Amino acid sequence: METTLRGVGVSHGVAIGEVRHMGTAVLEPPAKQIAADEAEREQGRARQAVKAVAADLIARGQLAGGEAQHVLEAQAMIAEDPELMADVDRRIVVGSTAERGVYDAFAAYRELLAGAGEYMAGRVADLDDVRNRIVARLLGVPMPGVPDSDEPYVLIARDLAPADTALLDPALVLGFVTEEGGPTSHSAILARALGVPAVVALPGAGELAEGTVVAVDGSTGEIFVDPSEEKRAELQAAAAERKAALAASSGPGATSDGHKVPLLANVGGPADVPAAVEAGAEGVGLFRTEFLFLDDSRKAPSEEKQVEAYRKVLEAFPEGRVVVRVLDAGADKPLDFLTPADEPNPALGVRGLRSLLDHPEVLRTQLTALAKAAEGLPVYLEVMAPMVADRADAKAFADACRAAGLVAKFGAMVEIPSAALRARSILQEVEFLSLGTNDLAQYAFAADRQVGAVSRLQDPWQPALLDLISMAAEAARAEGKSCGVCGEAASDPLLACVLTGLGVTSLSMGAASIPYVRATLAKYTLAQCERAAAAARAADSAEEARIAAQAVLSGE
Ligand code: PEP
Ligand code: MG
Repeated sequence: METTLRGVGVSHGVAIGEVRHMGTAVLEPPAKQIAADEAEREQGRARQAVKAVAADLIARGQLAGGEAQHVLEAQAMIAEDPELMADVDRRIVVGSTAERGVYDAFAAYRELLAGAGEYMAGRVADLDDVRNRIVARLLGVPMPGVPDSDEPYVLIARDLAPADTALLDPALVLGFVTEEGGPTSHSAILARALGVPAVVALPGAGELAEGTVVAVDGSTGEIFVDPSEEKRAELQAAAAERKAALAASSGPGATSDGHKVPLLANVGGPADVPAAVEAGAEGVGLFRTEFLFLDDSRKAPSEEKQVEAYRKVLEAFPEGRVVVRVLDAGADKPLDFLTPADEPNPALGVRGLRSLLDHPEVLRTQLTALAKAAEGLPVYLEVMAPMVADRADAKAFADACRAAGLVAKFGAMVEIPSAALRARSILQEVEFLSLGTNDLAQYAFAADRQVGAVSRLQDPWQPALLDLISMAAEAARAEGKSCGVCGEAASDPLLACVLTGLGVTSLSMGAASIPYVRATLAKYTLAQCERAAAAARAADSAEEARIAAQAVLSGE
């Protein structure tokens, strides 16, 4: 029966094959006493084994070259360390065999290293590997390490030692799974460099029987044991699709006829920036600053702390665009110091900009921190308010930005249907719009985002939602201003084409979606997107809208 294990996916792709375990068993030689006249012979054996292992490591290094060569040469030096050798000699003189002497001398050295700070402790794996090699040679058993196999296999290891990883043959190793390690471990870095799928931090991996067939999904971190034919086909198809999308996708977002649609990332703080940069985001389209506030719901973070976090995000996109949304508290993101405790319906209560206008000091601190963070940086800072209902809201926000001395574009999120209906009026006060389609759907359909039972109405393909988006985009076009989408709608590649056809000027999404949206958008002209948008709006349900748009784009 198929079972599923889950670790941390660190290198994309799918590998399907038989399990082979790395030979990492700690070889503990028996503690037998030798006679005094055998000592010299045992010392000679130990010396010979050490020499052979060091020579083998150096030869492997020369074969591998590059960084691996340095690592292996360092291991050869450990093997021939004179202090270690002297300790082995001493142990043999008092009755140890060569193998036991090596084993115990390394154990003593290991303890020293383990207690000598994080960096040295990190070298323990290298030391163990050298010891295992010497002891194996002395015992006349196969070397621990990469299994001997002519058939491709999925390698399972506790962790991978540099000596083995350097020699992994990508033609034989389909992928690998380790019990230890994290996304920045040697194993993960190597897997990405080799381009083989890999999952780390899977404690049960060692128990998989040799020869078991597994399917490793390096994107999700899942391992399917004894996968069915359907599961294999499904995984392979998904991996091929992902690969094709990524290969076809680079550079700025645009339709096939060159109509530019900047693809931006949604981030919650500096930690999300590397993925955004890696995905080729052209900037940030939504920085959800409330995540900085959720650590302590009793008070706002200090101005300094805010400056630090904002600056880190701004610095990552020199000359790019960064759209920061001021604090959006309330409803599903309540904060004790801002959100009234006794609202009968928090989603319709004092949330978003409403909370900030009730607590001008919180807004002031945030805007001042943003102004300081942007000082001297060549970034295009844009600042927007969540939950703008009308022109008065937009004016109050723009006034607060100006009062804080912020040099930036000020914008309004369109999340309430009234803002879409009266977008031209709002645009008299601000310079851009950003459609928060998650809340816009919630309020247009009176369907709580958090209630699964009404999720049908939260579908961003709903034609009524497309109508509201079209209204806002049309108003922005008439005013010569921009109107992006930063809700989840932007991350659906097909819908992204429809949004482009509706006149949306940028798309912002989680970093992982960017390559897929970029690849799909690049397949169609602006005119095709416009026709798909018209077809979707002419439909009567979300499902029909999706089918209609798909039909137009695939030329049916
Ligand atoms: C939205 O409502 O679409 C949006 C982007 O804001 P959030 O999801 O943070 O409410
Ligand atoms: Mg919202």
